[in-house]
Amino acid sequence: MLPTKAYGAQSATAAIAPLEIARREPGPHDVLFDILYCGVCHTDIHMSRGQFPRSIFPMVPGHEVIGKVVQVGSAVSQHQAGDIVGVGCLVDSCRECAECHAGEQQFCNGRVGTYNAYERDGKTPTYGGYSTRMTVDEAYVLKISPKLDPAAAAPLLCAGITTYSPLRHWKVGRGSKVGVIGLGGLGHMAVKIAAAMGADVTVLSTSEGKKADALRLGAADFAVTKTPDTFSRLAGHFDLILNTVSASVNYDAYISLLKRDGSLVILGIPDGPLALNAFGLMLKRRSVSASLIGGIRETQEMLDFCAEHGIVSDIETIPIDKINEAYERILKSDVRYRFVIDIASLR
Ligand SMILES: [Zn+2]
Ligand SMILES: [Zn+2]
Repeated sequence: MLPTKAYGAQSATAAIAPLEIARREPGPHDVLFDILYCGVCHTDIHMSRGQFPRSIFPMVPGHEVIGKVVQVGSAVSQHQAGDIVGVGCLVDSCRECAECHAGEQQFCNGRVGTYNAYERDGKTPTYGGYSTRMTVDEAYVLKISPKLDPAAAAPLLCAGITTYSPLRHWKVGRGSKVGVIGLGGLGHMAVKIAAAMGADVTVLSTSEGKKADALRLGAADFAVTKTPDTFSRLAGHFDLILNTVSASVNYDAYISLLKRDGSLVILGIPDGPLALNAFGLMLKRRSVSASLIGGIRETQEMLDFCAEHGIVSDIETIPIDKINEAYERILKSDVRYRFVIDIASLR
């Protein structure tokens, strides 16, 4: 085993603090890489504070991981020493089910999360990117183009794919009308990616203060949702609305903004069951759906799309010892738009 420096939580009430973990020696199909950067996702906070159904402690969060390959196993063909690589939310899956065969490993019942999960043996815990190195099966390691800034590319591995996947699934393209509720970590990626796909993007935000940023990021329009005439002005306007807010919203109001056959897609986790009126759906055959990250093939496609279009996240880089402060600032939405840990600060 490879002793590895990390930061993590010993319990749901503990701060994120230094600890040591062990990584496996690379097997024939494994890639061992030094971690360069790791993005800080809102999920890291929920998981490390025990706010989701299962938490495994000690926990090392981090699923927006960028690294440089140090060593590869004898059977590895896709990666070599020196390559810049990425790992997102998945490090393995059953590889046999219909979802895995379809390349939609995020829906596999046997998927293995990058942290707060167990390997396929059912007993070895996985540890995330708040650490100096990682060993991952090559089939779950992504290639990062040298065109992408490695620090700013880290958030593509969760926030990027979480927004790219529904935009692709609902066939957004030139002229599509896309609404993005909330301009945070997910929302700012949704705006950049949808605009690069040729969509006409409107940011729907509670605060007027984000208008300049929304337009700079590529939105064509900005609407304050506290202003009632927003909902009459934009009635029946959108093909697709992505809800990136991790809270309940007035679903009926947003559904009324969809065209015939339009879809409202939930990406942030609401704080309770959905409350909505079926008539809003019936009258124009609209739908409400939800989406979860993306599969490995689509994640690579997203990374290549972002390299081609020069898309990365807007980030604030922090040393690892500022992680607890960063969590507090995320909870206050005081980040534009993603914290990324410089793992050099942990070596
Ligand atoms: Zn995430
Ligand atoms: Zn599977």
